[in-house]
This record gives sequence, C-alpha cells and structure tokens, in this order.
Amino acid sequence: MQEAVKQLLSLQERDLELDRLQGELAAIPKEIAAINKRIEAERAALEDSKKELTQLQMQRKEKEVDLSAKEDAVRKHTAELNAIKSNDAYRAMLGEIEKAKQEKSTLEDEILQLMDKVDQSQRAWKERETAAKTTETERQRQIADWDSKQKNLEEQIALKQKSRDELAAAYTPSLVETYLRLRQGKQVAVIVPIKAEQCSGCHMKVSHNLINEVKRGMSLMACEHCFRLVYLEEDAEKPITR
Ligand SMILES: [Zn+2]
Repeated sequence: MQEAVKQLLSLQERDLELDRLQGELAAIPKEIAAINKRIEAERAALEDSKKELTQLQMQRKEKEVDLSAKEDAVRKHTAELNAIKSNDAYRAMLGEIEKAKQEKSTLEDEILQLMDKVDQSQRAWKERETAAKTTETERQRQIADWDSKQKNLEEQIALKQKSRDELAAAYTPSLVETYLRLRQGKQVAVIVPIKAEQCSGCHMKVSHNLINEVKRGMSLMACEHCFRLVYLEEDAEKPITR
C-alpha cells in the first residue's frame, strides 16, 4: 500500500474517533437540560399539591368564620326574644333562631368533612414531598454524572486532538490539504477501500481502469462517482500509529 494511503488512513482513524467523541460531548447539554426540565416539572407538581392543601385550609377557615357568625346570631336572637311583645314577631324570631341553628349544624358537618380532606391532603402532600426529595437527589446525581462525563470527554478530546495535530504536521502538507478538502468538516470516511470492485464509500462499481491505476500505485486515486480517495482492500495493512 502506498505510504500516502497509510498516512491518510491513520489520520482519518483519529479524525473519525474525534468526531465520535465530539458528538458525544455535544449531546450532553441536551441531556442535562432534559433532566433540569423534569426537575422543574416535578417541583411545579409539588407546588400544585401544596396549593390544593392551602385552598382546603382556607375553605375550612372561612367555614369557621361563618359558623362563628351563626353562633353569634343565635345568641343575639335568643337574647332579643325577651324584648319582643307581639306573638307574631316572637314566632318569627323563633323561626330565625331555628334557621340559624340548622345552618350552624350544616356548617359544622361541612367543617368536619373539610378537616378530613385537609388531613388527607396533608398526608398526600408530605408523601409527595418526601418522594420528590428522593427523586430530585437522584436527578442531581445524574446531572453530576453528566458533568463529570463532559469534563472527561473534553480532556480526552484535547489529548487526542494534540496527538492528531502532531501526526498531521509530520505529513506532507499538500496530502493533508487534499484529505481535509474532501472531508470539509463532514464526519465521514473520505479514504475508503475498494471491495469486490465497489467503492465502499458510495457502493458503486468502479472501473477496471481505476482499479489498475490504484494497483500501479503511482498516485492517489479517487472514486469516479463520489470522489473519495480509494485503495485496494487486499492491500490493506494496519494503519500506522504512533
Ligand atoms: Zn465512491
């Protein structure tokens, strides 16, 4: 195999590995954002649950105020009874008192029901709060894992990039330029083997003329269809590494 092919394969191997690591790195902020979004949603759900409890407690307070007013009314009307001279007015006042007592009794029932609801809601909220704390701790741990993975990847990439750049610097600049021009930031192999008379980049059949030129090995040859640089698979040796 031509030395140029070996060099480019070695460079390509490093670049593809760097592409892969960069891809992994680029996906991390999205993962973290998704976890943070879940945390926000869980906090909001807990907040809603707390609002429900607060509302029930307010309802109960309002009913207690109403009850107290009814009790006052019963007391007031009862005291007023003695001062009433006419029978009709007396009966009317008794009716008022009876009505207030009934309303008072209804309010007492409602307050008891609300107290039950408040208890239930309080228990449910406490349970949710405890569960939410555990969940959030777990989520924060996941974020910390992603953070350390990110840091680790950044370090790996820096090291591999340095070694790749050193390798590229040792090769003929025009060769590296040709390779980079083909690559144009695309994260694909641009130097590929011909296997069974097919370019393994675009999977099109290549001409015998091209295969013969590649066999002669006088210069780097490109696939007639996709313009990737090609070499013969049967020539394949392990790319040089250092
Ligand atoms: Zn091709």
